[in-house]
Amino acid sequence: MSPIRLALVGIGKIARDQHVPAIAHNRTFELVSAASPHHKLDGVPNFPTLEALLRDGPRVDAVALCTPPQVRYEIARYALNHRLHVMLEKPPGATLNEVVALSELAARQSVALFATWHSREAAGVETARTWLIQRSIRNVRVAWKEDVRIWHPGQHWIWKPGGLGVFDPGINALSILTKIMPEPLVLTEAELSFPSNCDAPIAANLLLKDPRGVEVHMELDFLQTGPQTWDIDIASNNGSLKLSNGGAVLRIDGDVVIEGTDHEYPRLYERFEMLVRERRVDVDLAPMRLVADAFICGRRVTVAPFVE
Ligand code: NAP
Repeated sequence: MSPIRLALVGIGKIARDQHVPAIAHNRTFELVSAASPHHKLDGVPNFPTLEALLRDGPRVDAVALCTPPQVRYEIARYALNHRLHVMLEKPPGATLNEVVALSELAARQSVALFATWHSREAAGVETARTWLIQRSIRNVRVAWKEDVRIWHPGQHWIWKPGGLGVFDPGINALSILTKIMPEPLVLTEAELSFPSNCDAPIAANLLLKDPRGVEVHMELDFLQTGPQTWDIDIASNNGSLKLSNGGAVLRIDGDVVIEGTDHEYPRLYERFEMLVRERRVDVDLAPMRLVADAFICGRRVTVAPFVE
């Protein structure tokens, strides 16, 4: 079968750290070009925009959009209107309605659209999901705390409207939770702390519940120094489970049962290949809906300005 000719759009941290190596190790995809306003990728023709890439570059079948969420919708629409298959970085857009519109457009165009949630591919997640199906959950605690200055240096878009602030990593925790919890979650309470000079929160506390009343307490913090924390702890009627390192390590009753190497992006590309072959749409908005509800219903607290 002929390779899928792919262009990367938005050459920033995630494109370089994860997409380029994942594509290089996947024989189905051939990275043929890149589009980004300023940065360039070695070894392929580069263009400032997707429009210029499609006009002047080599033919492409698919694009992976690694831009900040605020500009993704127009680029995705342009790609879908040109009947390209589209992979979206998380979060899939700046608004829910953008993503719904893209799903409908992709279906009309008979091309693949994949809203990726890379944390769902972490090594411990699938086993955690099946372990929980057979148990009655008592309570859930999520602590997602990282140092924004280390992980997001110079990323001004994260503090702008639509950039999500601490929910940029926090939505990864929600993507895992909405995959492993047997029943849907709703938001009950939220408190969002906004630096006085930013349009996105730097910390948040959420209380979610499932239909049986099981409580999920979430603490998100962007100012964690020292050890970083990406943990989900679940107590059940028959043992306890802990996912740590963003889902890469799974402990059951304190014993490590999975400690996986990082295959998140190779798995995303394997799935994208299947979606392209079948011209299917895979868009799950559950994590983004919970974030949107936190912005709609959360109490807002103003805190000290953020200075990088
Ligand atoms: P980043 O380092 O700021 O890179 C984003 C890149 O997008 C910039 O380098 C910029 O390119 C490009 N860009 C901006 N506007 C564009 C436009 N109109 N057309 C084409 N390219 C444009 O951000 P990032 O960390 O890679 O994050 C990007 C997305 O990936 C976010 O949604 C984020 O949540 C997600 N993500 C990030 C990580 C991570 O570890 N960083 C992990 C998983 C997912 P120029 O520099 O050329 O202007």
